[in-house]
Amino acid sequence: MDFSEEDRPYEEIIRVISPPHCARGPHGCDECAEAAKIKVICLVRVYFDPGQFARPLMELSKDGDTSYYEFDVVRRFENEAEAVKYALDNGIEDMEI
Ligand SMILES: [Zn+2]
Repeated sequence: MDFSEEDRPYEEIIRVISPPHCARGPHGCDECAEAAKIKVICLVRVYFDPGQFARPLMELSKDGDTSYYEFDVVRRFENEAEAVKYALDNGIEDMEI
């Protein structure tokens, strides 16, 4: 993982997603296609500015606008209770599980 872009604006949110295997995505990579079948509750770091490295994109509604944003999966939760506890402990306000 590369931390040199941490000064980019980002927000951490919790979503049920299929964590991608790599940036190629399910259409370019068999392992991503396998990964796309599994839904996991994840802490996702969403970047609002484009970066210099290829990252997977996720569709996200923010303030009524739907757009595609680069993201990193920061953490995977075992269950809803774990996700809710993390959100409370860390002030995560944007959670859809
Ligand atoms: Zn892949």
